[in-house]
Amino acid sequence: MKLTLVTIFPDFFPPVMADGMIRVAREKGRLDVRVVNLRDFTDDVHQTVDDAPFGGGAGMVMKIEPIDRALASLAVGSKAERPAGTRVVLTSPQGRAFTQRTAIEWAILDHLVIVCGRYKGVDERVAGHLVDEEFSIGDFVLSGGEPAALCVVDALARLQPDVVGRFDSVESDSFHSGLLDCAYWTRPADYHGWQVPEVLLSGHHERIEQARREEALRRTAARRPDLLAGADLTREEHLLLRAIERERGK
Ligand code: SAH
Repeated sequence: MKLTLVTIFPDFFPPVMADGMIRVAREKGRLDVRVVNLRDFTDDVHQTVDDAPFGGGAGMVMKIEPIDRALASLAVGSKAERPAGTRVVLTSPQGRAFTQRTAIEWAILDHLVIVCGRYKGVDERVAGHLVDEEFSIGDFVLSGGEPAALCVVDALARLQPDVVGRFDSVESDSFHSGLLDCAYWTRPADYHGWQVPEVLLSGHHERIEQARREEALRRTAARRPDLLAGADLTREEHLLLRAIERERGK
């Protein structure tokens, strides 16, 4: 898939995209990431991308013209006539929460464009008329959309085919199937008397699988009970969950 990042800090991305799964996805031709410098789309000598807010007050606001021109250069159509498989999004703490579900949805696009906001915010007409939606990576405020965009790049990279060695690893990760992942241990089996669960050493794959699923259910019930309503559970898992909840006094 193609990913275009529109930013006033184009140097932010290359170092972090040279390692890990993002590098693998790029090298395998699964992810074609381009960084667009918003200042290339200004028309004054100072390459101005921001201006004071109408109505006054603290902070500067990102201007609409450079963003409009940058998007026009990308052949992504207009908001009303977006080519199928193309999506243009804007970073914002007020946007739709970016979750694993969003990652799965966006990972199959042909082209995702992320416009990174800065300053006090972005002229509201960008959200209203130029992009398809705004997204947030959590209820906190960053100084710019670049770290948020990077989270999306990483989450989408690992969902591309052949990037993570075994896709069943991605599928058992937290949120993918609606539950948190189970816990993991590695050698040594005994460290200063701290032991790993016996069942994991049994070599009995079916029992291990069952124990892991039960552990995932327990962790989700304890840490993120809000996820349980949307989880895809078998009949046995529903029964098990009820037992876990009884045990927890719910
Ligand atoms: N005044 C704004 C925050 C501006 S922060 C408000 O309170 O809503 C500057 C920019 O950083 C934002 O325009 C947005 O593009 C980006 N940003 C900040 N927090 C973010 C978050 N949680 N998720 C995604 N982008 C965020």
